[in-house]
Amino acid sequence: MMNEEHLKDLITYLKFPSISTDSSYSNDVKDCAEWLTNKMIDKGLESQIYETPGHPIVVGKNKHREGLPTVMIYGHYDVQPADPLDLWESPPFEPRIDEGKIYARGSTDNKGQNLAHLLGLGEIINEEGELPVNVILLVEGEEEIGSPNLGPFLEKYRDELSCDVIAVSDTGMIGPGIGTFTYGLRGIACMEVTLHGPSTDLHSGVFGGSIANPSTAIARIISSLHDSDGKIQVPGFYDDVREIQEWERDAWASLPVNEAETLELTGSSELFGEKGFTDAERRWARPTAELNGIGGGYQGEGSKTVIPSKSFAKLSFRLVPDQDPEKILKLVQEHLESHLTPGTRIECEFGHSGKAYLMDPQSDYGKAAQNALRETFGCEPALIREGGSIPIVQTFKDVLGADTLLLGLALPDCQIHAPNENFLIKNFYDGIRLNRLLIKEISN
Ligand SMILES: [Zn+2]
Repeated sequence: MMNEEHLKDLITYLKFPSISTDSSYSNDVKDCAEWLTNKMIDKGLESQIYETPGHPIVVGKNKHREGLPTVMIYGHYDVQPADPLDLWESPPFEPRIDEGKIYARGSTDNKGQNLAHLLGLGEIINEEGELPVNVILLVEGEEEIGSPNLGPFLEKYRDELSCDVIAVSDTGMIGPGIGTFTYGLRGIACMEVTLHGPSTDLHSGVFGGSIANPSTAIARIISSLHDSDGKIQVPGFYDDVREIQEWERDAWASLPVNEAETLELTGSSELFGEKGFTDAERRWARPTAELNGIGGGYQGEGSKTVIPSKSFAKLSFRLVPDQDPEKILKLVQEHLESHLTPGTRIECEFGHSGKAYLMDPQSDYGKAAQNALRETFGCEPALIREGGSIPIVQTFKDVLGADTLLLGLALPDCQIHAPNENFLIKNFYDGIRLNRLLIKEISN
């Protein structure tokens, strides 16, 4: 039976334009945090707002009892900007319900999902008087801008936030009705390369043929990163890569995701990548070297016969366990330096990075998550890794020493960060049930 009050709460929550990146919405962010803390109290938790140098963090707790496991549930109440507004079929902060979906900015990412957790806790407290576990519900307001104040907050309140396991619903499901447990994420390392040549742009007629062209030279070093099959050629790059387990290969091969779907989603004519691996294996468990941008020389209309004085490339590397981002960036730098054309000089600037994350889905908490998903959705949960990175998950591991159960409810067509973001109302109610079952499983 669906509780109408829950849907009303969701609609109210979605009306706050809590856009974290735009300071003109700071008061809306604040109002949203206040609504949330009151809702936590209303549902039977103790709650407090913690100010940060940026947007506040809202924390809810039940009365903790000795001897019970402590579960942290993490989410975020901030949202992405709604632009471009003219592509929305209804205003982004006036929730609209149509054919079983609720349309609003933040509906899937992440208000619908974190509210489902809170309401699940509220139902248990309402029926049983208290929760069978210790809970810390942490909902921040800066996820969409990279959580700049969450790490310091975790460090500062390390003791108060100490927990045995963390649950996060901010990832995807592989399809409607298929409970999905994401037990691994790729890491990332970024680098910007500038290749310097002559001290000024040169006439390619006067000097061409006798002076190295930095654009040609950068194309050369970038192409040295892969062989013609897409395998990375940087010495030592694969040394620490953990092999894909046999059970993972089997599990992924049996998922209802296929290569035709990838082609359709991407509009590509065929797949390309490292030999000996499937599409899912390449995206979830193999590292990459990606050229995200390249430039230099004349970009305007017509031709201009110039040898540019410099060129640049922006690179990023998706990493897998047990690769170390710093080590990888150094190996890449050495490799690039060894492929320089005479007369050019390279400058490498390291950008942000984060390690890959992997937990054992057959651990006790992993099994609890699987049981909760199985019971919620009535089928065997899909066990997957994701190709993207959620750096905060590794921060949780580093600061609090706890694994994170990623139990997302986003569907491939929910349009997060895009116009007409939507959340299946069934998933909202399933999320409430999932929370209840997870809490029960963890208490066992
Ligand atoms: Zn987001």
